[in-house]
Amino acid sequence: MQTVHAVPPQPDSLPVLEERAEILRHEAVNGEYRLMQVAAPAQAKLARAGQFFHLLCPQDDALKPFFRRPMSIYAIDAEGGRISFLYKVTGTGTKALAKLAIGERLDMLGPLGIGFSLPRGKAPIVILARGVGLATLAPLVGLAQSEGHAVTAILSARSPDLLMSVEETRAAGADAITVTDAQGNSDTGHVASLLDDLHQQGRMGALYACGSNRLLKLAQEHATRHGLFGEVAMEQQMACGLGMCFCCVRAFREGDATVHRRVCCEGPVFPLEEALGW
Ligand SMILES: Cc1cc2nc3c(=O)[nH]c(=O)nc-3n(C[C@H](O)[C@H](O)[C@H](O)COP(=O)(O)OP(=O)(O)OC[C@H]3O[C@@H](n4cnc5c(N)ncnc54)[C@H](O)[C@@H]3O)c2cc1C
Repeated sequence: MQTVHAVPPQPDSLPVLEERAEILRHEAVNGEYRLMQVAAPAQAKLARAGQFFHLLCPQDDALKPFFRRPMSIYAIDAEGGRISFLYKVTGTGTKALAKLAIGERLDMLGPLGIGFSLPRGKAPIVILARGVGLATLAPLVGLAQSEGHAVTAILSARSPDLLMSVEETRAAGADAITVTDAQGNSDTGHVASLLDDLHQQGRMGALYACGSNRLLKLAQEHATRHGLFGEVAMEQQMACGLGMCFCCVRAFREGDATVHRRVCCEGPVFPLEEALGW
């Protein structure tokens, strides 16, 4: 098993800022997902791929989301001082978020959690993402490329119109392989053969997964078989997001033991072999 060298920011050692950030861009990217970009210069300098912000969704007469909603950082523009989120409109919180207009302000707390780490040296990495996992894993492409790791991303979705980050991944210099249910090539058998091919070609020094239980299991099997370093970004309902309420505890495997960890501050990124799934 390879050890990691890039120690991600630790939540205890970095400031967590609350900001009422101005919305610069807010638009639908397809029938399910929206992209929101905000001005947050200080946070953009602190943020790392895999971390998240806790968003205070606005309340009105129709929608009254109570807790903040955790949202992964989709893109970080440290120089321009901008952070982007890519979110799926599903329930009360995200329906309320979708109502925010350009020029309005979003109350965001963060950056929170522990982000991704990269393998030693310049080992190439493979990213396996589906659904909302595409949003979480997208900034890892730029981070890894900028630190000299060649990236291959396998991007999975129900249909081609729901695939996201394909052009951005290729523009960052990474290889993007797309698979969809509609095209009949997103099944675990086909994805497993893609992983085997990438491994044989020497393109997999580490493996990262997010967004699907079956892809997580597949990634775990592959990493275990080949002794690869890997990480997974987990999701869980959260209340405080700061580690105090223990609302987001999940079970993980540590050797032969089952341990419980808070996704908000001990994650959301965890070693691949420790995850027990969603
Ligand atoms: C680390 C992390 C990163 C994430 N990143 C993304 C991302 O990049 N894009 C994305 O689309 N989604 C992301 N999610 C999921 C996101 O936080 C929301 O859960 C999801 O968008 C649905 O939120 P909603 O408010 O629309 O749905 P809702 O169904 O209204 O609420 C979301 C969750 O909060 C719970 N909840 C709501 N109100 C209460 C209450 N009063 N008491 C107790 N529980 C309540 C609900 O049970 C539900 O599971 C992420 C989650 C985590 C943990």
